[in-house]
Amino acid sequence: MPSDKTKRAKIVAGNWKMNGTAAALAELSKLGAVLPLAPPRVVICPPAPLLFRATQAGSPFGIQIGAQDCHSENAGAFTGDISAEMIADTGATHVILGHSERRDAHHETDMEVRCKVERAWAAGLTAIVCIGETAQEREAANTLDIIGGQLAGSLPDGVTAENTVVAYEPIWAIGTGLVPSFDQIIEVHDFIRQRLTRRYGQATAQMIPLLYGGSVKPDNAAMIFQAENVDGALVGGASLKAVDFAPIIAALAAS
Ligand code: PEP
Repeated sequence: MPSDKTKRAKIVAGNWKMNGTAAALAELSKLGAVLPLAPPRVVICPPAPLLFRATQAGSPFGIQIGAQDCHSENAGAFTGDISAEMIADTGATHVILGHSERRDAHHETDMEVRCKVERAWAAGLTAIVCIGETAQEREAANTLDIIGGQLAGSLPDGVTAENTVVAYEPIWAIGTGLVPSFDQIIEVHDFIRQRLTRRYGQATAQMIPLLYGGSVKPDNAAMIFQAENVDGALVGGASLKAVDFAPIIAALAAS
């Protein structure tokens, strides 16, 4: 019998953060030209001003587009913010929520992330919900407690394999070149699957895609994708250039 891993969606999402102007969209056609025959779901999350043009640049290649955040309200006096409905209106299909850089720099709480997830769903977007521990929390052997708390607090009831992707991103691994050991990646992803099973039931939880994020590069991607409960990656720095991102996509397609 095939394992549940083979039935789940494989996803590689690229988080461009605050990098790129219109010229960067040329990377999408470069990427499209070298995608494997049966590619995983590829989602590029550019800065908000590029969303609409990115949907146009990505669509000939089946590359989907996501935003990096949305507001928890749909409209109103929130200068500088964008709503999930506005994101969906650009043709984007995904939104990253609760990234550690937003939890840190914008003091986002689990409760706010949960409200944003509900807004994203209402707009028809798939939420890529990020969780992860700090270096201090890992050193204090609190990783699983932190992850369990963030999962419980950030995810609403009503999670399905279509409306939600969970990305485990140890904060100390983001942009540092540090990566947890294979055993640590397995431990946390297995734990996330167990917690999702307890809350949403076996049938739903077994199909929810779980991504690993934090210094994924062409030379470590294949190892990371071997873990039973890793269904893909959320990639920062290595998603900016097609030459770096394409081998990561190829490694997932081959896994
Ligand atoms: C991220 O910011 O989500 C990320 C994983 O970054 P990097 O791949 O650069 O570590």
